[in-house]
Amino acid sequence: MLDSFLRDEAGRIAAVDRLAVLDTPPEVPFEKIVDLMRTILNVPIATVTLVDRDRQWFLARRGIAAQETPRAISFCTHTIQQRDPLLVPDAHLDPRFMDNPLVQGDPRIRSYAGVPLRTAEGYNVGALCAIDTRPRTFSDAEVNILVNFANIVTDELELRLIAQRDHLTGALTRRGFVEQAAEELAAYTRHGRPGALIMLDVDHFKTVNDSHGHAAGDQVLRQLAELCSSVMRPNDAFGRLGGEEFALLLPDAAPAEASAVAERFREMIEVYPFEIGAGRTLKVTVSLGVASLDLSTTSVDCWLAAADALLYRAKQTGRNRYCTDALVENV
Ligand code: GH3
Ligand code: MG
Ligand code: MG
Repeated sequence: MLDSFLRDEAGRIAAVDRLAVLDTPPEVPFEKIVDLMRTILNVPIATVTLVDRDRQWFLARRGIAAQETPRAISFCTHTIQQRDPLLVPDAHLDPRFMDNPLVQGDPRIRSYAGVPLRTAEGYNVGALCAIDTRPRTFSDAEVNILVNFANIVTDELELRLIAQRDHLTGALTRRGFVEQAAEELAAYTRHGRPGALIMLDVDHFKTVNDSHGHAAGDQVLRQLAELCSSVMRPNDAFGRLGGEEFALLLPDAAPAEASAVAERFREMIEVYPFEIGAGRTLKVTVSLGVASLDLSTTSVDCWLAAADALLYRAKQTGRNRYCTDALVENV
């Protein structure tokens, strides 16, 4: 039976994107699940699969070499069209799959049990798959185990998102930001792609709290995050590193460009009337440290430390300014 979520492919893709998990490195919970599936169900192949626009991508996999395969030949693209598990006892006898290259060639799929991975909103973002190279049926108890594992996977994906977003401001948490920064650093190490990290800290924020109360301080932080998020480019990442300290990640930005962004943010914040309730507004300023990737950036910690040192220099030299290690003029 089709329900509206099963027909809404654009919404489904948005749900996959929202999970922000495609092309990320292996993670322990999902690795454990495919190991358990293999042991408990005695299958040679087990996958946690996400179905993207044109491909299926394995969040975790055992017994299959490829990290992804075209969607057109995937079993899972059938699984996500239904709510119930898809059971294929013998692919050679199933007209949908008998000519499939994954059946005729490696990994020689012969039987398949796939349970849709359904998000809380109701989209099937992928499937949990137990696969054998010989014909077999999966018992109700075995399918039930798969359904339970599928629920664990979707819960884990949701928790992962919660852990990545700061509750007060909606910005990435430190953990979420560090994960993104690690990807940028990897792109720099592998391909020499430039990138910059801007750390910013509200000036004399303690005074804001002391003079107007902690709730007003919270409102300032929330609006500051909203303001920064609203002007950044789609590929940039914005995180709250802690307290009143934030960071902006600028993929592909050369040093001069990163400095220009820092100055733009500084100016924008300086003039912004932050609302603190009862019609009152408040002005705040920020200090910023701009660290571009270079050969000395050997880890994200080291990248953050470089930005922090430059932020400290901006504080020491008068606040409401940015400092950079690049050979560009400061304001
Ligand atoms: P500086 O210009 O040197 O950065 O001075 P500062 O007063 O901003 O720095 P300091 O680190 O001394 O104070 C930071 C303050 O931020 C102290 C802390 O109470 C406040 N703060 C941290 N997290 C929050 C929060 O979530 N909400 C509010 N309202 N205040 C917070
Ligand atoms: Mg501060
Ligand atoms: Mg601070």
